[in-house]
Amino acid sequence: MQFSDFSLDKRLLTSLEHMGIEKPTEIQVQSIPVGLSGRDLMASSKTGSGKTLAFLLPAMQRVISKKALSKRDPRVLILLPTRELATQVYSQLRLLVANTQYKAMKILGGENFNDQAKGLARDPHFVVATPGRLADHLKQNHLHLNGLELLILDEADRMLDLGFADQLRAINKAADHKRRQTLMFSATLDHGDINEIAGELLKEPEHVSI
Ligand code: AMP
Repeated sequence: MQFSDFSLDKRLLTSLEHMGIEKPTEIQVQSIPVGLSGRDLMASSKTGSGKTLAFLLPAMQRVISKKALSKRDPRVLILLPTRELATQVYSQLRLLVANTQYKAMKILGGENFNDQAKGLARDPHFVVATPGRLADHLKQNHLHLNGLELLILDEADRMLDLGFADQLRAINKAADHKRRQTLMFSATLDHGDINEIAGELLKEPEHVSI
């Protein structure tokens, strides 16, 4: 299996080449087609498996190839439990958007709130965020999620362990429309709260377990 076997934009294949990434990992082989199909996904996989590209590539492909559903940005929101993880995902996303006209922004706790509000006013297409800070901006109407096409939750079990369930529900509610796709990744599915939140956020998800 090669990345060129998926229907990915040429610019994404070029970015992968520049990143020195040649062959898809198992989680990528299984998750990329689901992401591209528009179906919801519940995946269990660990850090180091290549799961970041397993969700970033379908996210990029969706924005590149489909017209926006709404004039409102962002089109893609990626949530992670910690600043460190969000920063790592953001740096991989930057490499992918670099070849395109799309804008990405990160919204992390502990950084300047007003600067973030100004950045959000510039309508980034992709936002990578920690849930607490993102929910604060949502409360202040600094961003609108009624045009959100794709919600990605990475390390969902850790987000729940850190007490972010209420923020996840608020974000889900703000982005609640029929054509939204949701991809959820968790190290373990053996966590009662994960099944509960997955039941609320995902619609008839495909399951992938690596
Ligand atoms: P992740 O599990 O997403 O945190 O990825 C771990 C590391 O593997 C990152 O440094 C990626 O750049 C790298 N990586 C992701 N996919 C591949 C791949 N298909 N081949 C080689 N390295 C990869």
